[in-house]
Amino acid sequence: MESMLAASLDSPGTLVLEKRPIPALGPRDVLLAVEATTLCGTDLRIATGQKTNGVAPGVVLGHEIAARVWRIGSDLTARIDVPAPGTQVGLAPEIACGHCAPCASGHSNVCANMRLFGTGVDGGLADLIVVPEEALACITPVARDIAPPHLALAEPLSCCLRATSRLPIEAGSRVLVLGTGPIGLIHCALAVSAGARVMACGRQARLEPARAMGAEVTTAAQGEDLVREVLAWTDGVGPDVVIIAVGDPGLVPIAAQCARIGGHISFFAGFPAGAMAQIDPNLVHYRELTVSGSANATLDDYAAAVDALSRGRIDLSPLITHEYELSDVHDALEAVRTRAGLKVAVRPRGVSAP
Ligand SMILES: [Zn+2]
Ligand SMILES: [Zn+2]
Repeated sequence: MESMLAASLDSPGTLVLEKRPIPALGPRDVLLAVEATTLCGTDLRIATGQKTNGVAPGVVLGHEIAARVWRIGSDLTARIDVPAPGTQVGLAPEIACGHCAPCASGHSNVCANMRLFGTGVDGGLADLIVVPEEALACITPVARDIAPPHLALAEPLSCCLRATSRLPIEAGSRVLVLGTGPIGLIHCALAVSAGARVMACGRQARLEPARAMGAEVTTAAQGEDLVREVLAWTDGVGPDVVIIAVGDPGLVPIAAQCARIGGHISFFAGFPAGAMAQIDPNLVHYRELTVSGSANATLDDYAAAVDALSRGRIDLSPLITHEYELSDVHDALEAVRTRAGLKVAVRPRGVSAP
């Protein structure tokens, strides 16, 4: 194999499939053979030119990556922290600098100099991906091999774990998940796996999937109707935790009305730039609410996600509803755009043994 297939951004809004030379392997690089890359709304926004911030010209898209080590650089062969060729791995997309103020305070997930596979650095919509020396820690071996599209979900799962590690979700907790996109559904599965009881709120078409992920109550209600239903579900008390998993600022006051005294609200979703939300500050004051935010994931969160998936502690396989070959990447993105399913996976044809 002298060339590989890659889906790269020719210009904002123009994604092209092209044959590229196999990336050169530097002495401290690792080459991974991509097994699957799942897509999300961010990929669609980059592909259509809506998102240009941090996007490098000609970059290969894809940041939810499952792969297998293909070749390792000559200087790395003796390093025990570099998995051997043939090892199945997830690749965390966040390449943090390690020395800025956020990195120094344990917030490498919001590194001031963040570079991302699939945005600023070539990502997973290709047969092969080169991991440069500064990103070797992003390579995360599995505990045991699993289906590649499921492993690719370690990336969205890692972001959800980042949020829930700071939320009091335990056996018997009641958790309200606002939003039933793939992220909301992962939050449903995570809360259920912790023994919590879950109510999910979202579009009608996504309520059945929410039940499949373990939500005991689902609703498409909005506004005051939603608040009434949530309070009825919790005997008037309110849920312990409310997770806003869709970027709708109108959900902020709803969340504050629903949460129980002493409850927690997580602003998990990103909101549209410039969005403002109104909240009754006395609800936060008198009800002693805790509001927390969460963005991206650290390498520790990512490692925890790969571990949970590859050991079978959480099963997100019902989320994978569509699989496409890399050569059909435009159809795959169309499936994301039309919300034809839940998660869409793209699978290269594979490369021969190194
Ligand atoms: Zn994503
Ligand atoms: Zn940093």
